[in-house]
Amino acid sequence: MKKKVYFKTFGCRTNIYDTQLLKTYIKDHEITQNEQDADVIVINSCTVTNGADSGLRAYINSVKKSGVKVILTGCGAISKGRDFFDKNEIFGVLGASNKNKINDLISQDKAFYEIGDLKFIDTKIVSNYENHTKAFVKIQEGCDFACSYCIIPSVRGKSRSVPSEEIIKQIKLLAQNGYSEVVLTGTNIGSYGLKDKTTLGKLLQEIGKISSIKRVRLGSLEPAQIDESFKEILNETWLEKHLHIALQHTHEKMLRIMRRRSHTQNDLALFNELSQKGFALGTDFIVAHPGESEIIWQEALENFKHFNLTHIHAFIFSPRDNTHSASMKERINGDIAKERLNILKEIVAKNNYKFRKNQKDTLEILVESKKDGFYEGYDQFFNKIKIASKEDIAKQWINIKDYDCLEEYNFTRLDDEK
Ligand code: SF4
Repeated sequence: MKKKVYFKTFGCRTNIYDTQLLKTYIKDHEITQNEQDADVIVINSCTVTNGADSGLRAYINSVKKSGVKVILTGCGAISKGRDFFDKNEIFGVLGASNKNKINDLISQDKAFYEIGDLKFIDTKIVSNYENHTKAFVKIQEGCDFACSYCIIPSVRGKSRSVPSEEIIKQIKLLAQNGYSEVVLTGTNIGSYGLKDKTTLGKLLQEIGKISSIKRVRLGSLEPAQIDESFKEILNETWLEKHLHIALQHTHEKMLRIMRRRSHTQNDLALFNELSQKGFALGTDFIVAHPGESEIIWQEALENFKHFNLTHIHAFIFSPRDNTHSASMKERINGDIAKERLNILKEIVAKNNYKFRKNQKDTLEILVESKKDGFYEGYDQFFNKIKIASKEDIAKQWINIKDYDCLEEYNFTRLDDEK
């Protein structure tokens, strides 16, 4: 019998991608955008923090009351699926390698636990994205690092890559469908191709040859992954002038405690090189990880100021069960942690404002949507602009020279509005 299926996605871009991919396998059922209408809810879950796990539990509890069938997939299926399933809290568990079975499993009335394996790689194409001007392309899955605070390698498996011919085929199809901006995603995209004797830089060189792709954005990279093949494409116009490179910390001792592979001095040299080439630079940073004493923090802060960061995704350390960091007993006081976090955010907000004010280049914007009366989009530096326009400019590329730099974003009125 035909069922109404609602997809609920938690977590990162890779999960957004995986949900789109899952939807392409639904043949005999109807996908609904309305949670209340659903006979089946597929939860594509995240398990990156203990908080993500409790959010998942709360969501399952809230929807279960209506008697809907719950199917759990994504990272939480690996870490929590067995537990939920054994307690009859969910109808089914679907491992990421079993996406192609989803249609049939929804059709059956028998509960299922199909966890699959962590060696698969999806090669099926997602050729249309609802409500998006840009298309996501998953190029890689899994991570070979072992950062002390992170659970991801145990739920996403070792790094493996989609063959480059498949990716090129996929992007050409997206281009035919009208997408001109692609976002490359994966668990650790900088490790793309390393086991297949290729690199992300070489893949990008191939993608750059597809003429109708105007801009390529990248997910998070690791400093050591910016190799020579990557540096060869830094001047290409299709590469966004913004890179997100995960530092996590700016103190050598903390990097060792966190079991990172990078080194502060090398990181700084890399960031300076990229900044001199005009790149806007973003990072992830964890404050108040065990070991971050006042002295270390002050030194890290001094280092941080030299990184010229324009974007940041900073978090307060939160212990994730079953990781090495969670077993470290020392904890930094919560108020101190918040203060450190805010200091970093303020520095970066000021840098970003300064960066935008000093910008001489014309902004190249892909307008995404209209919110509260203004069109919004991002420029090549991944800075937001709001645009007043009488004309419908959604999903269009526009070049803007004349705009105001407000503290949090840029703003312009198109001619007919002046
Ligand atoms: S690079 Fe480190 S933080 Fe990122 S997924 Fe791998 S282990 Fe986790």
